[in-house]
Amino acid sequence: MAPNYRPITAAPPDSVGQAFLRATSLKCPMCVKGQLFSGMLRMNETCDLCGFRFERDPGYFLGSTYINYGLTTLLTTWTYIILHFVIGIGRGWLIPGLATFCVIFPVVFFRYARSLWLCFDCYFDPTGALEQRSELNQEQDPESSKEN
Ligand SMILES: [Zn+2]
Repeated sequence: MAPNYRPITAAPPDSVGQAFLRATSLKCPMCVKGQLFSGMLRMNETCDLCGFRFERDPGYFLGSTYINYGLTTLLTTWTYIILHFVIGIGRGWLIPGLATFCVIFPVVFFRYARSLWLCFDCYFDPTGALEQRSELNQEQDPESSKEN
């Protein structure tokens, strides 16, 4: 039996700022109430409240690694440039510190990278997100009519 989702207001973000705010809250990009993650690294398959499926296609979240890798690279590079060339800190201190940062930061930022990817995809492709939502409603209609 398909789970019964409550009929709540759910719509994709309508601005870049709203997409960013929804992403940083780690909530469902459609209803902004359901939790994206059930643990530190464990992502829910669907929103508990509106039923929106987070992984829209197989391998969908591969794109979030670009966000994670890109930000890690940018932060590491600019930190090295500023600390070494501007402030004058030696490589002996910088290299081990930045190497540790390169291992820890992507793990800590993992949830935010996935959330950013999902929210901005819903913003740039709202039709796909809404189509999935209408499919969900069509699947539920026959089920709810059987129960009544
Ligand atoms: Zn939701």
